Amino acid sequence: MQIKFYGVRGSIATPGKDTVRYGGNTSCVYVESSDGSIFIFDAGTGIKKLGDELIKNPKPKDINLLFSHYHWDHIQGFPFFLPAYNKDQTINLLAAHLGDLNAHSVLTQMTDPHFPVPSDKLEATVNVFSMHEDRLYVGSNVIKTQSLNHPGGGSAYRLKTPQGTMAYVTDNELDPPEKPKTSYREWVEFLKDVDFLIHDAMYHDHELEKIHGWGHSLISQTLQLAVDANVSNLVLFHHDPSRTDIQLDQIKQDSRAWMKKNAPHCQIYIAREGDEYRIE
Ligand SMILES: [Zn+2]
Ligand SMILES: [Zn+2]
Repeated sequence: MQIKFYGVRGSIATPGKDTVRYGGNTSCVYVESSDGSIFIFDAGTGIKKLGDELIKNPKPKDINLLFSHYHWDHIQGFPFFLPAYNKDQTINLLAAHLGDLNAHSVLTQMTDPHFPVPSDKLEATVNVFSMHEDRLYVGSNVIKTQSLNHPGGGSAYRLKTPQGTMAYVTDNELDPPEKPKTSYREWVEFLKDVDFLIHDAMYHDHELEKIHGWGHSLISQTLQLAVDANVSNLVLFHHDPSRTDIQLDQIKQDSRAWMKKNAPHCQIYIAREGDEYRIE
């Protein structure tokens, strides 16, 4: 399984000299399973570059684009995703735990006065699915979902491939002030023994008072979750737009030191645009 990061930032794209190393594009992660199945998690601004690459090197299979939810930083790149304008391409838009709001919400951003090209000009075959079952089979892979603790809701995904398991959990507050849709105990269960976990880790403990209830997690909570769920590799994701490269270096150093003491088998990474991982 190949996993590559195209957008790692939360809330708003933040190009600039202070974010040039980790990247300023919003959420987008590409996953290719050994059977050739393609999964893209979210269509933040990072999906532009991914689309440019996929147009140059087209893949024979459908593109499965899974949305955590429809906040701008997770959908805004879609109108610039060139495979959507390729008549030979099939794209499946998938979402879960969003009630009646299916992934058409991604297409409705392509309307006047917000965007000059309407979605009926997309030439690819675009299918819209809402996952109502708790699991979905794609090739030799299985996807499970879990409801996010985030304003407006959304879905986490756990993807089991023949080479291992990854999970994409962003815009999720592990300990929200109100009753959670998914309790901490349920998160530990959902993520048990995952090989590669990508999880929201937007804030420091000292920022909690300001951000409690915004639907994001503290770095410290995310580290503890990886320990409790026996995760092998944890990637801290959805960086605050004001977090600089130097601050993210510090978060990496501190998180690795903490994990070395608490669960030395768990590897810690900070999501960085362009980084690629292989799970064998
Ligand atoms: Zn977000
Ligand atoms: Zn959000």
